[in-house]
Amino acid sequence: MLELNARARLPTIFGDFEIYTFKSPENEEHAVVVKGEIQGKQDIPVRIHSECLTGDVLGSKRCDCRDQLITSLSYLGKQDAGMLIYLRQEGRGIGLLNKIKAYSLQDQGYDTVEANLMLGLPIDKRDYTFAVGVLKYFGISSIRLMTNNPAKMDFLTENEINVSERIPIKSEPTPFDEFYLSTKKVRMGHQL
Ligand SMILES: [Zn+2]
Repeated sequence: MLELNARARLPTIFGDFEIYTFKSPENEEHAVVVKGEIQGKQDIPVRIHSECLTGDVLGSKRCDCRDQLITSLSYLGKQDAGMLIYLRQEGRGIGLLNKIKAYSLQDQGYDTVEANLMLGLPIDKRDYTFAVGVLKYFGISSIRLMTNNPAKMDFLTENEINVSERIPIKSEPTPFDEFYLSTKKVRMGHQL
């Protein structure tokens, strides 16, 4: 069971939220952004977002992370209740430095899957255990998940979180992330 670390108000350009942090055994610094009263509330919209420094913060066009983050927060800001769980697992869990190494290989023409394999890294090392812990902390056992990624839904279902609905996240491909998005779709099963 996760233990609450701190909770504070977080007014944003997308709406008024609260931000929660939790003590985790691994000292991970994840953030949980909460809209409204969610304790014990079922089937609220939830976005589980993995950190992407280059996209989320720097506005990189190499991926669609920032689009997905903004779309999610804009949506959640308009709801009575909802939550964004922001997991600090950069580069699908391989970390920033490895992600940039993989980008370098992609600049030479390899796709995102090939690049990771060439570096001896897993294609997707993301782990959603913390997110499951957060949902259980709030007494939530069924959610409407904002995602294009079926693997994320499977993980939740296997961990006793029902996904009653998938809310797709639409984003427009740019010339820079078109190849990346088609790789995610074709090689990783994302529903884009
Ligand atoms: Zn990204």
